[in-house]
Amino acid sequence: MGWVPVGAFDEADRRATTRAHRRMSTYLRETFSEFDWQFPTAARCDLEAAAHPPDARAEPVALIDHGVTERDARHWDFALVVTPADLRSYFTSYALGVPSQAVQGAALSTARLDPEAPPAFPDDQSSPDDAERHDVLGRRLYALAMHLFGHLGDLDHTGDAADFMFAPQTVTDLDEMRGYDYEAQEQLRAELRDVADVRLEETGQYRHQRVLFYLRAAWQQRSDIRNAVVETRPWAFPLRFSRLTTAAVSTQVVLLTTAEAWELGMSQPLGGVVLLSVGALGATSAYLLKRQHLLDRRRAPRLSEQRVKTAASVTTAVGLGMATTYALLFVVTLALSLAFFSDALVEGWAASVTTDGAAPGWGHYLSLAGFVAALGLAIGALGASFEEQDYFRHVAFADEET
Ligand SMILES: [Zn+2]
Repeated sequence: MGWVPVGAFDEADRRATTRAHRRMSTYLRETFSEFDWQFPTAARCDLEAAAHPPDARAEPVALIDHGVTERDARHWDFALVVTPADLRSYFTSYALGVPSQAVQGAALSTARLDPEAPPAFPDDQSSPDDAERHDVLGRRLYALAMHLFGHLGDLDHTGDAADFMFAPQTVTDLDEMRGYDYEAQEQLRAELRDVADVRLEETGQYRHQRVLFYLRAAWQQRSDIRNAVVETRPWAFPLRFSRLTTAAVSTQVVLLTTAEAWELGMSQPLGGVVLLSVGALGATSAYLLKRQHLLDRRRAPRLSEQRVKTAASVTTAVGLGMATTYALLFVVTLALSLAFFSDALVEGWAASVTTDGAAPGWGHYLSLAGFVAALGLAIGALGASFEEQDYFRHVAFADEET
């Protein structure tokens, strides 16, 4: 497990990080003694790439990205990126740390862990208060690191305030967190056994067959990939991406109030609508993956299990997010078209659809709903491409804001 310091550390941050690092290595070596643990620290680097000048808050996913680059280069299993800068948060008022199961990395900030401001007399370096402060800061950072590590091992939150997996509401909650319970330890042990296994790229198999390597690695890690996808909650995409939803719903409303759209939609064969829908799902997902740079890994062209896991997780998450949007559009279109449009009106609008002048049947309504949903999804994807890239990556990669 590699530690990656990013940003300008002051004395307190530096000492706290050293303490947290030492405590974590002691705890993990004692608790999971069957594994050969190593805790290297990367060279410190500056924040520029990850910070936004207006509020100087660091972008968690950019930090994690940096950690992943180090991880890939040095063959680590996990990367913990520590920064003294405050983390940018999107869904809560602040974030102490952000884990990402899909990339097996996490970002931690010491900015809000400090128990008090620096002493009034800075030359009094050795005052007991100062030592106490470093100690508290170190213990908090340690508890936070253990909490995030638990998330990387797919642990859930518990209600026990003395457990590492307690969801801290305030910074002082971190002071109470002491260890994992028995069940969590067993679950972590199983996860770690997986991680410690020989990796596919180390066996030398499929070295020159990229596609086979991808398929094999994705299959081997299928449960990890599923867990990582669940953590990103793709079914919440329509709620989280307002531009996607706005564009899709606008398209839907315009089509539903246009006679020609009814005629066109209802006259499509069901098979054609299914094909159109599958095509729209695939094309919009691919477009967003490309447009939002979700698969960018130019820096490390080497094949690796970890990168297959990341790519498969994020691709599946985006695909499911778009499928959720499609399903919502489909159901809402079907409900609206059945509820608000009288048979007489529909017969007038879609006169050419039925030959004997009868009212359109279920098949026609399903065709219409599929047709409108597919077009709505396509326009929605154009809207989603205007979502801020940092925000999109945050939703796709960050599991929570701790
Ligand atoms: Zn948590």
